[in-house]
Amino acid sequence: MIQFSNVFKRYENGHEALQNVSFHLPSGDMTFLTGHSGAGKSTLLKLMMRMEVATRGSVVIDGQQLSRLKPHHVPFLRRKIGVVFQDHQLLFDRTVFDNVALPLVIEGMDPREIGRRVRAALDKVGLLSKEKLSPIMLSGGEQQRVGIARAVVNKPPILLADEPTGNLDPQLSAEIMQLFRQFNAVGVTVMIATHDLELVQRMARRVMVLKDGAMIHDAPFKPQAATG
Ligand code: ADP
Ligand code: ADP
Repeated sequence: MIQFSNVFKRYENGHEALQNVSFHLPSGDMTFLTGHSGAGKSTLLKLMMRMEVATRGSVVIDGQQLSRLKPHHVPFLRRKIGVVFQDHQLLFDRTVFDNVALPLVIEGMDPREIGRRVRAALDKVGLLSKEKLSPIMLSGGEQQRVGIARAVVNKPPILLADEPTGNLDPQLSAEIMQLFRQFNAVGVTVMIATHDLELVQRMARRVMVLKDGAMIHDAPFKPQAATG
């Protein structure tokens, strides 16, 4: 589903944000991407969404070589990828429902279908009863769940998250991670960038580690092997 092969990213100022990064994330898998601030995590996610383009090497998403993707095909790529941000980027002058509906409204979907999809997404994150509220009335954890509902409302096969628990306490972080697990359990390919190593360890999943733009570690989860 996601394949990086010898990917380099050099920004205009000459900074090498990624150096010779290769990995494969098969369809339906879930992985964490960790590393210190500045290691290149966000850059890697941006390459997948084609918000940035690799300087060298190849990025293939769902069979599409992104360096050959024509600009008018970028919106179709983005529809395959749900994205969750740390600061969830919600609109406080709209209801929870309208925030989640936004991607579908932009696609021009039929309003009845929008209603059905939005309520299905809110139901999955446990916020069906809050659809009429402004996100400003919700707690930080609830706001992040609205962000997740918006990311999955058009059922993308891929879900990316950039520090999704950055502002949350351990209990709420664990609940948010549980949601990602549930989407993964129904077949969604999930990649979560975070520097919360304790949380990552508790989740027992594949862990990729970036350091100064290089992938220095990529460990599939091995049940029981870690403690021996
Ligand atoms: P992380 O998400 O792991 O904190 P980033 O991918 O945001 O890392 O950044 C990796 C490196 O690239 C950092 O040194 C950062 O300062 C640099 N960087 C990020 N974006 C740009 C940009 N648009 N122009 C120049 N340098 C950038
Ligand atoms: P319907 O099939 O009537 O559209 P739902 O919208 O509830 O019903 O979704 C059907 C199934 O698809 C559910 O089991 C749901 O969890 C799963 N599913 C697959 N991919 C996604 C995704 N990216 N986001 C949300 N649900 C998904």
